[in-house]
Amino acid sequence: MRNNFKSETLKSMEKQDVKKSGKSIVIAGPCSAESPEQLLETANALKSSGSVNYYRAGLWKPRTSPDSFQGVGAEGLKWLKMVKQETGMKVATEVGCEKHVLEALKYDIDLLWIGARTVSNPFVVQEIAESLRGVDIPILVKNPLNPDLELWYGAIIRFMKQGIKDVGAIHRGFSIWGESVYRNPPLWKIPAALKERLPDIRIICDPSHIAGKRSLVPLVSRRALEEGAGGLMIEVHPDPSIAMSDAAQQLTPSAYCDLISELDLHNCNNGKREESSIDELSSEMDMVDELLVHTIANRMELSKQIARMETPGRSDDGQPQKLKKVLKKLLGLATEDGLRPDFIHRLFDEIQKESYHMNS
Ligand code: PEP
Ligand code: MN
Repeated sequence: MRNNFKSETLKSMEKQDVKKSGKSIVIAGPCSAESPEQLLETANALKSSGSVNYYRAGLWKPRTSPDSFQGVGAEGLKWLKMVKQETGMKVATEVGCEKHVLEALKYDIDLLWIGARTVSNPFVVQEIAESLRGVDIPILVKNPLNPDLELWYGAIIRFMKQGIKDVGAIHRGFSIWGESVYRNPPLWKIPAALKERLPDIRIICDPSHIAGKRSLVPLVSRRALEEGAGGLMIEVHPDPSIAMSDAAQQLTPSAYCDLISELDLHNCNNGKREESSIDELSSEMDMVDELLVHTIANRMELSKQIARMETPGRSDDGQPQKLKKVLKKLLGLATEDGLRPDFIHRLFDEIQKESYHMNS
């Protein structure tokens, strides 16, 4: 139905000659450029792995807090240029407005990406896209913070409409409220749906921002490739413990090399999903179990706080009715998710018994 509304131009743009995703690509480097020494040391280590297509470093950092390190800014462009000259590697950075684009182009940056926070703002995406009109440079568009396929698709189309030939996408997971084993949980269905709508674009994955912790980066990388990612963007720092941004998720160069050598990057089958192995599924299940325990502990804590606040008498009157209503809703959800209502009933009975026991 949606297709009926598409203009002919849009249809032809979706088929335009963006670089076909044959071999997978790897973009690696620090979250942020911190000093010329840190940049060069990381680049030399990565160059020797022979696996990097583009060396990344963030210069203008879109940080959540104004008190965090905001990036070295335009100063870092000289350092990236120096890395390019010394190592011969192609270099990439994030741009968040027209000014960044103009400065990056002056310093021969080879690839630009648009960050998740920027993609969430169509005015800024349009401004950046227009500033790139007629420029022959690959652009990668990260998914917006929220799982909104239309917003992601719209941002990509804004670049295509400016005649940019090589536009691709990066799946970096989506923000959520509450606990998760991931920093930004992935939603593999969304890049898959994007691939259906734009079959010719390359969609890579950023396991670092999905994972949020380095121990999880290998698992997410493998899963991404199984899901058909056309490459990876991985954060690497010579000493992650002192990194000025995203310290928990950056890999050391040697951990990066170990990971890359075990991944089947050259066998990536762009877009076609492979079956996950038993090992991979079971480590994902371990993580979900961990999360389950955290979630139950969280619930117990909340019920403890409520018990402390409740006035005597109120709980006896209101609670059974309220519990009934909540249970009804949960049983409905369980049925929708293909779970047996009887199982959910027993599970919540146990949880409630335990919370009663803990609070008495
Ligand atoms: C980054 O790549 O360092 C970054 C800030 O990413 P994102 O836009 O995905 O949060
Ligand atoms: Mn980062």
